[in-house]
Amino acid sequence: MINFEYQRASDVAEAMRFITADPSAKFIAGGTNLIDLMKGDIERPSRLIDISRLPLKAIEATADGGLRIGALVPNSDLAYHPLITERYPLVASAILAGASAQLRNMASTGGNLLQRTRCPYFYDTATPCNKREPGSGCSAIEGLNRMHAILGASDACIATHPSDMCVALVALDAKVHARGPAGERVIAFSDFHRLPGDTPQHETNLHSDEILTAIELPAQGFAANHSYLKIRDRLSYAFALVSIAAALELDGNKITEARLALGGVAHKPWRDREAEASLRGQTADAAAFRRAADILLHGAKGYPHNTFKIDLARRGIIRTLTQAARGTPQVQSSKKIM
Ligand code: SF4
Repeated sequence: MINFEYQRASDVAEAMRFITADPSAKFIAGGTNLIDLMKGDIERPSRLIDISRLPLKAIEATADGGLRIGALVPNSDLAYHPLITERYPLVASAILAGASAQLRNMASTGGNLLQRTRCPYFYDTATPCNKREPGSGCSAIEGLNRMHAILGASDACIATHPSDMCVALVALDAKVHARGPAGERVIAFSDFHRLPGDTPQHETNLHSDEILTAIELPAQGFAANHSYLKIRDRLSYAFALVSIAAALELDGNKITEARLALGGVAHKPWRDREAEASLRGQTADAAAFRRAADILLHGAKGYPHNTFKIDLARRGIIRTLTQAARGTPQVQSSKKIM
C-alpha cells in the first residue's frame, strides 16, 4: 500500500474544495471496495478525503411522492427502512442479496454505485488489464471468463458491474444527484454507468471532481408485483452469475407496465426497454415472458467459459417475471428458487 494523505471534510462544499485542490485524491465513505483496491496497488490516491460524516444520511419523501436517499445512507439502513420495505421492496430485496451483513453495514448507497468490477484480472497486477492499465490488453477474453459479460462487451473489456442494488434502481427509473464545481446535476440511472467501449477505465459518467449526493426514486415502487432473483455459485457472499429485477403493474392478468433489468451480464446494470415494451398490454403468461427474454438476449454473446449464462438468463427472466406476476417475490434468505 502506498503512503497517502488523509483529510476529513465537514460539509459538501469543503469536500469539493479539497478535491479541486488535489485532483488525484479520492473520496472515501465506507471504504469496502477502495481499501481493498489500495491494498492491492490498483488504486493509488495521493490523498483520501473522508466524506463519511457529511450530512447525506437522510431518507426523505419528495414533493412528487418519491423518495430521496442520501448518498451516505448505509446499505443495511436502506434495506430495512420502512419506506423502502413498504414502497420499494425490490430495492430492499436486491440489497439483501448482495455481499454480507458486515459489508452492508459499512457500505454506503453512493459507494454501491461506484464499486468497481470484480474481474479477477483487474485485481491481479501481474496480468494485463485494459481497465487497470489502458492499452495493456484484456486477460479475460482468452482466460477464465465464467463470471464475465454476455451483453454490451467490447474487444477491450468483458467485465461486469458487481452491484445488486443498482439492478433494482435502474429498473425503477431512479435518478442520481451529483454536485460539482458547476453546481448540482441529475443523471438518469440508466445513463450513470457506461459500457466499456475503448475506454473501460471509465465505469461511470460521474466526473472525478463531482460528489454523489443522493439517489431519487420516483413514486411508482411496484410493491405488489416484483421479484429479484440472484443466481450465483453459493448462496451468500458471492457475486451474481446472473441476476434479474422484474416489476409489473397488472390489471387483472393483463400487464399495464413492466420493468426488466439484469445484473452480472454487462459492464452496467442492463435494462432493456424493448423487452419491457413487448410485455405491455400482454397477458402475464409464460409465452409473453419467453418473448421478452428472447428480445433481451438477442445479441447476447458468450465466451468459452460463460456461454451457459445465456440460457441461464433466459430461464431466470421467465422465472422472475412469473414470481412478480404471482406476487410471490424471491425470498433472499431462502435457499430455494421459488
Ligand atoms: Fe481487465 Fe476488463 Fe479484461 Fe477484466 S475484462 S481483464 S477488467 S479489461
